Amino acid sequence: MTPITYELIKTCKQTGARLGKVHTPHGSFDTPMFMPVGTLATVKTMSPEELEDINAKIILSNTYHLWLRPGEDIIREAGGLHKFMNWDGAILTDSGGFQVFSLSDMRKIKEEGVHFRNHLNGEKLFLSPEKAMQIQNALGSDIMMAFDECPPYPAAYDYMKASVERTSRWAERCLEAHARKDEQGLFGIVQGGEYEDLRKQSARDLTSMDFPGYAIGGLSVGEPKEIMNRVLEFTTPLLPDNKPRYLMGVGSPDSLIDGAMRGVDMFDCVLPTRIARNGTCMTSNGRLVVRNAKYAHDFSPIDENCDCHVCKNYTRSYIRHLIKCNETFGFRLTTYHNLYFLLKLMEQVRAAIAEDRLGDFKETFFEQYGFNQPNAKNF
Ligand SMILES: [Zn+2]
Repeated sequence: MTPITYELIKTCKQTGARLGKVHTPHGSFDTPMFMPVGTLATVKTMSPEELEDINAKIILSNTYHLWLRPGEDIIREAGGLHKFMNWDGAILTDSGGFQVFSLSDMRKIKEEGVHFRNHLNGEKLFLSPEKAMQIQNALGSDIMMAFDECPPYPAAYDYMKASVERTSRWAERCLEAHARKDEQGLFGIVQGGEYEDLRKQSARDLTSMDFPGYAIGGLSVGEPKEIMNRVLEFTTPLLPDNKPRYLMGVGSPDSLIDGAMRGVDMFDCVLPTRIARNGTCMTSNGRLVVRNAKYAHDFSPIDENCDCHVCKNYTRSYIRHLIKCNETFGFRLTTYHNLYFLLKLMEQVRAAIAEDRLGDFKETFFEQYGFNQPNAKNF
């Protein structure tokens, strides 16, 4: 019996988006859901208590980074990642593959795995499907990800085909090496870039292995938005209805709505937390760069339509001042608001699906956020 199960509650008659629930050993969460990213066993500047306050039910953490620091043995000794970081909600860990391919330039991909250099000190390292499983088993995350290759965009067809086939072979090795099948669910990752037949091949290979959930990888790697939407349109129907679908690396409000409309259930991205530390906020009227001079005398909240703790108690002027002075508290306030904003957005998306009006919701939201303007920013 897999520890991860999915319940499809209903499908939006207007858009086809799915309302559902994912059950994990550390609680259940409603979908579509956004997962805040806690790379180094912390969502930067947020305490686990604050994550609970904003109703985060599942967070993501990074295998590669925790492998290097502090090392999986220390986390195992602590009793697993949940205990180590004092987070009792669900945790998803990635496989480390994405960082190996994005952070390290001296890498050699072989059938057995990937040889590369530590991005911190240049030391030689080797990551394989077996090693990625061993680390994630030590971390004890609720959802683990199979070790895959995430090819860059654009990638030539022949390269992509060879890569998809290797990723399928690696997925089998991951299943074989996974040592805690009753406690941790392992998701397969569908690759294939923008090529429909390769996405089909990847989905066929992986669904035949019967994972408890599937990710759609290789998107949000620099391709135009239309390509992401098109790939989702032909990929989600290839995945089983009774398993959750996770679109990796997506967290801009427009892409979350577009992804949900194409049948995606789970998302993660560093975007809301990263831009927060640059003094940029997501608001119901579009993005707001609170560090800008024009907010120096502005004593209104970041977002008048937001009922988060930050918007109820702090002003643009004060937050601008803190961020300009590099005060940690400023980063905490913008991070808190941005995560609250996205989690609230997903709540609104779920309510719209429940009432078969996600298409209407999208129209209103895009108009207000400014996505319909000709030179709208990407978030
Ligand atoms: Zn707020």
